[in-house]
Amino acid sequence: MTLTPLGRVVRGILIPIVCNVVGAHHVSGFGSHSHKLFCTQCLLLKSDINNIDMATWPKRNLQEHRLRAQEYHKATSDEERDHIVNTYGVRSTALLRLPYWNPIAHTVINGMHLCEGLAETHVRGVLGIEGDAKPKATLKSKFKPPAALLRSLWDGIRKAPENLLLSILYSIMEEVRIDIQRSILPTWIQPAPLAWGTPSGGKLSADHWKVICTIHLVVTLIRVWAYGNDGTKLPLLQNFLHLVRALQILNLWSTSKQLSEAYTSEMLQYLATLQELFPNWEFVPNQHYSLHMGEFLQTMGPLHARDTSAFERVNHELQDTTTNRRIG
Ligand SMILES: [Zn+2]
Repeated sequence: MTLTPLGRVVRGILIPIVCNVVGAHHVSGFGSHSHKLFCTQCLLLKSDINNIDMATWPKRNLQEHRLRAQEYHKATSDEERDHIVNTYGVRSTALLRLPYWNPIAHTVINGMHLCEGLAETHVRGVLGIEGDAKPKATLKSKFKPPAALLRSLWDGIRKAPENLLLSILYSIMEEVRIDIQRSILPTWIQPAPLAWGTPSGGKLSADHWKVICTIHLVVTLIRVWAYGNDGTKLPLLQNFLHLVRALQILNLWSTSKQLSEAYTSEMLQYLATLQELFPNWEFVPNQHYSLHMGEFLQTMGPLHARDTSAFERVNHELQDTTTNRRIG
């Protein structure tokens, strides 16, 4: 016999949507991150993604969003729906039936994936530091150091073949491995695998990327770039340390208006100096999204309160489970 034969009234409220970028855009009814309107928070065009003057970004409007979503819902053909998505970057979603739910304010940028993306983009894409002995074709095409930077930073090797320049960056990996082996970390921090970046090192987790960026590379690059040479790589190091400081503030277990502003300031300095060092670099969506994170720190609190690591672990366990591809 049940204690509540007539059932039990349960009242729930759904506020933040926390998932990766692809999932968040889909669930909350936005165009994808490759859409010309690629951001859930503002209406900056993808073609202007290198604009980091936040005051000039047009804000999304909730009433306008709901109106377009309603038009999408009532559309009677795929052509009509495609036109609405292509023009406004908005789709309908069942969540809009919740009268209080705000797709703009409540679609939270996932901190875990953001940190992972920012760290990986900088280490592999900007610095070209990779574990492989041979440069990858994708990295070669992404890494386009401007001539002015080459003159000031690597004057002696400026005329060397591109592969030689890249192999010098790869040699940093050896220094990182030496430092990982002689570093003693707190027991609750897992160091990156020694073979990270190589096929035998396996896929790095979001946590590994955070540790590589905020611990291992800080130790090694300061040792090698600040003290181990004539200081010509200092601009690269200073640029990187702005990112490290931003990630450190972002991952604190408490936050405040001052910390949120300090985070945004570090991130702005990181992106501005990145533009100076690499004028040909085109920002990726994560780098733009990172500038909205300061506001989420104020409205949604510190990252650990909405951390998705536990769900990611379940995802990995499910992916590692051997099945015969049959459900049940
Ligand atoms: Zn935006």
